[in-house]
Amino acid sequence: MAHTDIIVLGAGIVGTSVAVALAKRGASVALVDRGGPGEGTSYGNAGIIEGNTVFPAAFPSDWTTLARIVLKESPVANYHLAFLPKVAPWLAAFRAASRPARLVETARLMRPLMARAVAEHEALSAEAGATNYLRRTGWLKLYRSDAAFAAQARELELAETFGIANVALDGAGVRALEPSLNPVFRHAVHWTGAVSVTNPLALTRAYAARFVVLGGVIVGGDARTLHRAGSSWRVDAASGPLDAGEVVVALGPWAPDVLAPLGITLPLAVKRGYHRHYRPHGNAALGRPVLDAENGYCLAPMEQGIRLTTGAEFAARDAPPTPVQFARLLPKARELLALGEPVEAQPWMGARPCFADSRPVIARAPKQSGLWLAYGHGHWGLTLGPATGRLIAEMMTGATPFCDPAPYSAERFLR
Ligand SMILES: Cc1cc2nc3c(=O)[nH]c(=O)nc-3n(C[C@H](O)[C@H](O)[C@H](O)COP(=O)(O)OP(=O)(O)OC[C@H]3O[C@@H](n4cnc5c(N)ncnc54)[C@H](O)[C@@H]3O)c2cc1C
Repeated sequence: MAHTDIIVLGAGIVGTSVAVALAKRGASVALVDRGGPGEGTSYGNAGIIEGNTVFPAAFPSDWTTLARIVLKESPVANYHLAFLPKVAPWLAAFRAASRPARLVETARLMRPLMARAVAEHEALSAEAGATNYLRRTGWLKLYRSDAAFAAQARELELAETFGIANVALDGAGVRALEPSLNPVFRHAVHWTGAVSVTNPLALTRAYAARFVVLGGVIVGGDARTLHRAGSSWRVDAASGPLDAGEVVVALGPWAPDVLAPLGITLPLAVKRGYHRHYRPHGNAALGRPVLDAENGYCLAPMEQGIRLTTGAEFAARDAPPTPVQFARLLPKARELLALGEPVEAQPWMGARPCFADSRPVIARAPKQSGLWLAYGHGHWGLTLGPATGRLIAEMMTGATPFCDPAPYSAERFLR
């Protein structure tokens, strides 16, 4: 029988960062995953550490955008019709949380965590010898129409009050930064303080290696075997039973698989998303990730090629992939940058674990002593992994948390 102080379930960017933060504070920690670190959702993101993003992704506020999504003409989102009744309550809550006043509230509540995002990655990547994966060139949001740019006015105002650096650029300004981009847009904002990652899988693996250097153990096993064994929690790992006094559930979109049998049902939905790498045509290149705002996709330069990531797809987490958005996106993406052939035979699919209020849960679990939760990071899981690790480790070890954790409590759903 193996025993550690703490078991962390899930070795994505969040769980791995939590495990490192706990090990650094002297706890004996086992990190359990059924696969290798970083191979889940954390494998496939756009690699943007968005510590300076202000507003979360929001429900469309205009009927034209919504109608195009409903008619499956929009590159921004897709859905499975049969899944809509299931996700309808979540969508209603998401729509309510997308009202202007609520977006401002979310921005304020997320700010303390977001403000630490880049610094925590900088520190952890330095410890892990992985700073070579970080690119400190910010990221670009492009707007094809005056109206789309004008709609950002509130976000830019708020960025100013938060002191978040950004530079509004015209076409010439963008081409000075990114000469390969074709001038199909009218405006851009360069968020200069953002950092991006050239290989998210390699970064999580480097953090996991750091965890092992700190004395942590990585164990193969199925988190769904979690159960009480006397006063401990037990996971039936591949190597045998593993006991601990405390457990952190950091299973991203799979957290409900473990929590529901324990009577904890928080309103998580998934926004599925895809990526595919493309070889650049000729000497086309990018120095930073680029968002085509009206079309909802990102082009992110990665070690594997130019990674084209899609927006949201509302469908059951485990339903077969339906990467129909690529057909709608690719003409737009190819207008912007000379993309050549795809690198992989098929797109990759992941599922962003999302609460409707765009805030993660970083907290004690309700009803179950010794159980902690670190999941639901939605569009910001790469960004917030290390900051989440620090916050929950401070809470679990009785240190003063670097920010008020109340906005990330599970209780907010139970009131
Ligand atoms: C297309 C796309 C683009 C994105 N772009 C960005 C971006 O630019 N910036 C950003 O900050 N975020 C981005 N995100 C979001 C980000 O990738 C996620 O929020 C983040 O990866 C979630 O991390 P996680 O550790 O919570 O979950 P995961 O990485 O999914 O980790 C969960 C782990 O649990 C394990 N697991 C599951 N079930 C079990 C089980 N039964 N037993 C054992 N182990 C189990 C899995 O194997 C996995 O390793 C993007 C997401 C997508 C899909």
